[in-house]
This record gives sequence, structure tokens and C-alpha cells, in this order.
Amino acid sequence: MGGMSPTEQGTVERTAAEPMLEQVLAWSAVNSESRNLAGLERMAELLADAFAGLPGILRLEHPEPVETVDSAGKTVKVRHGRHLHLTVRPTAPVQMLFTGHMDTVFGPEHAFQETRWLEDGVLNGPGVADMKGGIAVMLAALKAVERSPLADRLGYEVVINSDEEVGSLASAALLARSAQGKRAALTYEPAALPDGTLAGARPGSGNFAIVVHGRSAHAGRNPEDGRNALLAAADLALRFDRLKRDGLTVNPSRIEGGSPSNVVPDLAILRVNLRPRTPDIEAEARQEIEAMIAAVAAEHDVQIDVSGGFGRPPKPLTAEAEALFNLVRKAGADLGQGIAWQPSGGVCDGNNIAACGVPVVDTMGVRGGKIHSMEEFLIVDSLPERAALSALTILRLIEEAA
Ligand SMILES: [Zn+2]
Repeated sequence: MGGMSPTEQGTVERTAAEPMLEQVLAWSAVNSESRNLAGLERMAELLADAFAGLPGILRLEHPEPVETVDSAGKTVKVRHGRHLHLTVRPTAPVQMLFTGHMDTVFGPEHAFQETRWLEDGVLNGPGVADMKGGIAVMLAALKAVERSPLADRLGYEVVINSDEEVGSLASAALLARSAQGKRAALTYEPAALPDGTLAGARPGSGNFAIVVHGRSAHAGRNPEDGRNALLAAADLALRFDRLKRDGLTVNPSRIEGGSPSNVVPDLAILRVNLRPRTPDIEAEARQEIEAMIAAVAAEHDVQIDVSGGFGRPPKPLTAEAEALFNLVRKAGADLGQGIAWQPSGGVCDGNNIAACGVPVVDTMGVRGGKIHSMEEFLIVDSLPERAALSALTILRLIEEAA
């Protein structure tokens, strides 16, 4: 534990006294799946109670309206829960952003609802790692920093959204607003590996719903009058597949629509996910998609409506981001924790924050694994370990600005 000042030492030690495990157990008992509005409201209230231990102005913000295309090709509104938003000392010289998400992936009807001990120190349960454990780590670090003599030089915003697992469309504007003018951001997704390795560069991600309107006709009597929407969607799916290259993954994931066997189908909906590694590749893909859709519309004589888009921008490892990773690594070294990072294929709110020009380390949460499965686990020792890492990182960012 060399290389720490007495102030740093004292702050780091205080993080371990926070009731992180108790919070994880209590919060994981509440089902807060992204579409479970009642559960999210309960979760938001529990978090509001816990974060009331910090100074500043805390509000539960209403989600922004989000639309999606249903299986009949109709545009429908999707409802989301409220987001927690805390603002502390907005005029302090060092401004940071801390983000997490309260939503999880299994609904209330699913069998996976309760926590249980897999072995001593390893807890299994919905959201224990992703990311109720991470939220407890964030709160413990901030509470400890608040009691340090450096606290009055730090201002920050905390955003805990309700829709990260479904793409953060209802919180994207709040995240972007809160990122403005920040020196750095920390996001509390679990570490990329159970050994604590952080996620560095991330690709972007785009979800598209492409609605093809053809013309129905009798399959035997006058098929030539029909315009087969299913065929056009299938043609598009194959063309999407050919967009794949180094730096761009493409996954046509579903075709809906169709008709009885004796009718030429007049409706099909194709859903596709694309993940570009860089903003340039994203821009190229946009152009190619537009050209492909125009070509298929012309060749099949159908009408095509596109909804959705690239909701998560790519997050390359910039020089500013690398400097922040190095600062976290140094803090880890002073705590006796080896910290490394590697690229990840996943996306998260770190993508949105990086796109605002703010350096972000987005895997400051716990060590654990098997997230988004019934085997999700939290290594309980990582709660105080990662809270110490966060607290020291925050203090170093304040000291660096002096
Ligand atoms: Zn997560």
C-alpha cells in the first residue's frame, strides 16, 4: 500500500466501513428488469434513500419517450422507469460524472429472482454484479470522498438510469447533459474479467427495424400482381451479411411478417444489429445501408421504412482515455491491485459518455461474472477492493487539478 498520503490512506480505509454487501442483498431482492415499471419505481426509491447520504440535489427524472416497431410493423411507444439524478457542488473546480444502471435483464416471471451463496464469498443472484454491486461500490467511494478534506474541490453528477440493458434510449439525453464539462467519468459496469481487468475500447452498436411493405396477391391466380415483402426482406438480410468486415460485425437477427401459403406476403420486418469499431466505419455503414435499401426497394418494387439507428457510438481508446486508465492503474498499484485493460465487444453507457468527449473508465464495478445468466456471481471481496480503487482514483483526479 505504498505511495499513498495520509489523507488518501484514511479515505480508502473508510470505504470498507460502508454496508455494501447489505445493499447488494437488499437491492437484488427487488426485480428491476428494464420493462418492470413497478419494480423499477421501488428500486429508484431504495436508491434515492441510499444516495440521500450524499449532499446535493437528488431527483428522480422522468424517462424520455421512446418508440419501437412491433411485430405488425406498427410504431409503438415503450414505457420506461425514472432515472436517479444527483447534482453535487456544480461550481467546484473539478467536475466528474458517475453513472450506473438500476435495471436488470430477467423479468418478474422468470425463475431467477433470489440470491444464494455459491461458496463462501461468492454470491449468486440477479444483478449482483451487473450492477447492483457496482452501485454499492460507487456510493461507498463517494461517501468516503465526501468525508475527506479534498471534498469541497470536487463537484459531480450521478446518473443511475433505468434502461441501460435495453439501449439507454430513454436516458441518452440525460447522460449527454450530465457529461457536459466533466473532467472524467466513472461507470460501474462489472470488470471485463473476474480478475478485475477493465474494458478499454468498445465498438458502437446500432439496432435497425426495417419494415418492408409489398403488395398481396393470390399465390396461384395472379402472383405477378404481388410484391413479395418477405423476399425483399430476405434479400436485404443477405446484403446486410455482406457488409461484414474487419471492424464491423453485422447480425440480421429476425424476420417477422409473412402470410398464409396461398398469399403473396405484403409485410415483413427485418431486425439487424451492427457494431462498428470506429466512427468512420459507422459513417460508411450508414451510407451503404441507405444504398442497399434503395436498391432493394427498386428491384423488388416495395416500400421500405427504416427505424432505429446507431444508438451507441463507438468508443475508441483516445489519448485522454488512456491517461485516465493509467491513473486508475497507478491507484491500483498503490493499493496492491494489478489493473489491466483490454478491448471489449460489448457496449454500455461508457460509449455515450465517450462520445461527449469525456474520458471514461466504464468497468469500475465489482469483480464477478456470467452476467445476463442465472449463474451471475459477485466476488464479495471485490466490494471493498473496488470501492478503495474508486475513492483513490477520485482523490487523484482532484489532486491532479490543484
Ligand atoms: Zn450492466
